[in-house]
Amino acid sequence: MITLVRRLAIVSVLGLAAAAVAYSHLIVSHQSTVEQANRYDLAWTGFNGRLEVTSLRERVARFAATGDAAAGDEAKLYFQIVVGRLNTWGSGEFGKFIASSPLREARFEGLVRDLTLLEPLVNQIHEDGARLQLMRDLVAISTAMDRIGGEAYSASLNEADAVRNALRQKLEVETWITGTLLTLGTLLVVFLLVQNRWLSRANATVAESAANHAFLARHDALTSLPNRLAFHDAFALEIERRAAGRVAVLAIDLDGFKAINDTLGHSAGDALLVAVGNRLTRMVGLWQDASAARFGGDEFVVVLRVEDGVSEAVEKAENLRRALAEPYRLPDGTVVIQATIGVAVATPAMPDPLQLPDDADLALSHAKSRNKGTVQVFDVTMRADLTRRRRIEADIITAIALGEIAPQYQPQVDMETGQIIGVEALARWTHPILGRIGPDEFVPIAESSGKVVELGRAILEKACAEATLLPADVKVSVNLSVAQLVRDDLVDTVSEILGRTGLAPSRLKLEVTETIVMSDTERCIATLHKLKQLGVAIALDDFGTGYSALSYLRLFDWDELKVDRSFVRSIGSDPHSLSIIQAVVGLASQLGIKVTVEGVETEEQRNLLRHVGCRIGQGYLFGAAMPLTALSARLLRTALPAPASRRAHLRLVETGSPST
Ligand code: C2E
Ligand code: CA
Ligand code: CA
Repeated sequence: MITLVRRLAIVSVLGLAAAAVAYSHLIVSHQSTVEQANRYDLAWTGFNGRLEVTSLRERVARFAATGDAAAGDEAKLYFQIVVGRLNTWGSGEFGKFIASSPLREARFEGLVRDLTLLEPLVNQIHEDGARLQLMRDLVAISTAMDRIGGEAYSASLNEADAVRNALRQKLEVETWITGTLLTLGTLLVVFLLVQNRWLSRANATVAESAANHAFLARHDALTSLPNRLAFHDAFALEIERRAAGRVAVLAIDLDGFKAINDTLGHSAGDALLVAVGNRLTRMVGLWQDASAARFGGDEFVVVLRVEDGVSEAVEKAENLRRALAEPYRLPDGTVVIQATIGVAVATPAMPDPLQLPDDADLALSHAKSRNKGTVQVFDVTMRADLTRRRRIEADIITAIALGEIAPQYQPQVDMETGQIIGVEALARWTHPILGRIGPDEFVPIAESSGKVVELGRAILEKACAEATLLPADVKVSVNLSVAQLVRDDLVDTVSEILGRTGLAPSRLKLEVTETIVMSDTERCIATLHKLKQLGVAIALDDFGTGYSALSYLRLFDWDELKVDRSFVRSIGSDPHSLSIIQAVVGLASQLGIKVTVEGVETEEQRNLLRHVGCRIGQGYLFGAAMPLTALSARLLRTALPAPASRRAHLRLVETGSPST
């Protein structure tokens, strides 16, 4: 459409130019036609000649009749006039007219000759003979002049006709050109109007998309909340104006959002984020000088002005936390989710208030690792935590290589017989500067920095190697992280390590938590199946701490279930805990799954657990994680090792180090 109109416009412009050229050409030729019409008038000259010769004859005749002297003089005068007339006829336009016909030219030459011969007769007009001769000769001359004058008259008429015709034709052409000019002009105007409309429409579109771009650059596409960029601008502005009050930043993170995303699907996750965004906007709208932003994922940030410092900020953060914990009605059902909030408030003496969002984030991380679902105010010791965290993160790989991180073994005991039937390998790190670092601290850091795959592999390899030095009826459990389970090469790694260390697959047990399985269920279950095919046992760790624990029992053919120590801790005080453990043990035995109870610390707990049918226990009552040598000594004391591994076992106890 656009190209068609453009072509039309070009054709119009070219047509206009051509019409203008034709028009100017027409005007020039018009002038020449008009000039032609105005040209020396043949008819008039011819007519005058005829009139003059008639007058000459009339004067001669009157003189003859009356002898009037005046008539005689007039006759002489008219003779001179006629001579002059013939001179005129012989030159200029009339001369050309005469020359245009040879016959007429001959006739004219004869006329001039005859007239010249008359001159003596005119001078002798008083004599009768001369006069008579003159009158006779003048008849022929008059006839000849009449003829030429008559021809000039009709030639003139023809020419006038031709001029009229030419003018009429030109008028037609002119009308046509004018019409064309008008049409093309109209077309051009129409085109300009159309183009103008397009231009203004295009301008409007450009302005709209520029506005859209500007909006998208500063807003989160999902929730339409301001993004990190917009937040930082608003925050800097608040800091500038902070004399009027104090600025606080709340860093908000949803607890277990990932699980909701994984179990209910991404569209439900998105709907939840939008709902959280709306709720935040509504809450924050009630406060003066406050705004909310989304930093990405399930991270939100609020900047607000507080008159009463920390206490007001905490109060508002609590309100926010409670509001966010209300159920969300989503298209796929109702969802409840908690939020953890980190709070940082600018103090008047603060050297760099722009640090505030980072402080709030630090407070948030702190709360996330300790008390999820709470409000945590930033304090400076958290910066030291951050420094420590960074150091741990930086040192992990070297620590693995240097053997600073290595497994120790916690016994798993048959609570009836007291016999050690297995051990759990638990990573231990003795840092040259930081001293002992627990896995609760460094494993999450390794996980978040992607180094846990290497860590897990090193622990697995060492545990398998050391397990070969233990009695053959003692199994070794090794913990797996999600990052390991989602890797395609996990099965190959495990089988290669088993091959290299010579540990029988049936002696290895891999522990996974239900959060691992939740992250990418199908893939994880497929990998677990392949591991089982190797002959390795799979245990579900920390059972009872997650979301829908019982449903995970059906998800996979687990070999073992490890009841989380939080249940055991409360069995003495809360009869429900014991009932739950009893129910789980019953269910598991029906499904053919073994149960190990974690965190057994007291005799009382052991007795209660035995009473409800728990056979295998793990906990400080039977020993904390210990080096291999200590474990071997324990094993020698508690039970007779199987003959096949006894020699190696004894050697280990004697030398204090594995002989692999
Ligand atoms: P977990 O797998 O649940 O390991 C059991 C934890 O409970 C261990 O803590 C153990 O020391 C502790 N524990 C054992 N008996 C008792 C008891 O009677 N009372 C109490 N209160 N605690 C007891 P630890 O060694 O600090 O390990 C913490 C967590 O770190 C482990 O929890 C496991 O999730 C992780 N972890 C440890 N080593 C590794 C590893 O090599 N790889 C991976 N991916 N994770 C590991
Ligand atoms: Ca474990
Ligand atoms: Ca556990």
